[in-house]
Amino acid sequence: MPQAPQKVALVTGAARGIGLAAAKKFLAEGWRVALLDIEGELLGRAVAEIGQGETTLALTCDVSDAIAVGAAMKTIEQRLGRLDALVNNAGIAVFAPLMETSDADWSRVLEVNLTGPFLCTKAAVPMMREASGGAIVNITSISAVRASTLRSAYGTSKAGLAHLTKQLAVELASLNIRVNAVAPGPVETAMAKQVHTPEIRADYHDAIPLNRYGLEEELAEAIFFLCSDRASYITGQILAVDGGFDAAGIGLP
Ligand code: NAD
Repeated sequence: MPQAPQKVALVTGAARGIGLAAAKKFLAEGWRVALLDIEGELLGRAVAEIGQGETTLALTCDVSDAIAVGAAMKTIEQRLGRLDALVNNAGIAVFAPLMETSDADWSRVLEVNLTGPFLCTKAAVPMMREASGGAIVNITSISAVRASTLRSAYGTSKAGLAHLTKQLAVELASLNIRVNAVAPGPVETAMAKQVHTPEIRADYHDAIPLNRYGLEEELAEAIFFLCSDRASYITGQILAVDGGFDAAGIGLP
């Protein structure tokens, strides 16, 4: 019996953290993976660590740069020949009160966290249409649904991405492209180390019913599931992977 062609996933922000864990999960499940990140050196090291012959492709690219995203997508087409899943994971966090949020920070957070997924999705759709369908997973955050004193830019960017997820699930269904989101609670990554003060960290532990931060690998499982055929009838959903934080209804630290 002829073998089905090996599927291809594009993971943005894949040089470390949740994105790298997701890339590893796709590889472990027999997919080929394009890993995209703005940090070329970090990405090079990650791909050298996990690279398996023809199964990985490293792309240095800023997701908020439409021309660079278009060029990256062209490289995927030429080198890997198809695209079955897109994980819009690249993101940045600025935690600050309104009066300490610079105009530049506000713009950059929205450009990377919201315009980035818009540009990557727009560039990915033609290849998915070619493959008669595909799956997109956007990485939002618990901050998309809970307000706090520090996250006007970050929370707003993620709430926008959550709505874009539903919007595009409806719009792209006719192309057999499913669009879902994973909403992490706090996860032990470089980003969390950067913006979670010891006070935020302690408050989170108390507020999370499972009483701990999530692991990158736990996020990767949910991301992969939503991209896989096992989720073939799921679209327009936002899956909280947060140790019960959202269910408990406690405010963000
Ligand atoms: P991380 O900082 O460890 O990794 C993010 C990666 O994205 C980095 O490799 C970075 O270089 C890359 N990146 C940043 N800007 C980019 C750009 N313009 N173009 C391409 N790549 C870019 O962060 P993480 O914790 O793994 O976060 C991954 C996603 O999960 C983000 O969207 C983040 O907002 C979301 N998230 C994280 C947490 C958490 O607690 N860690 C919680 C909720 C949501």
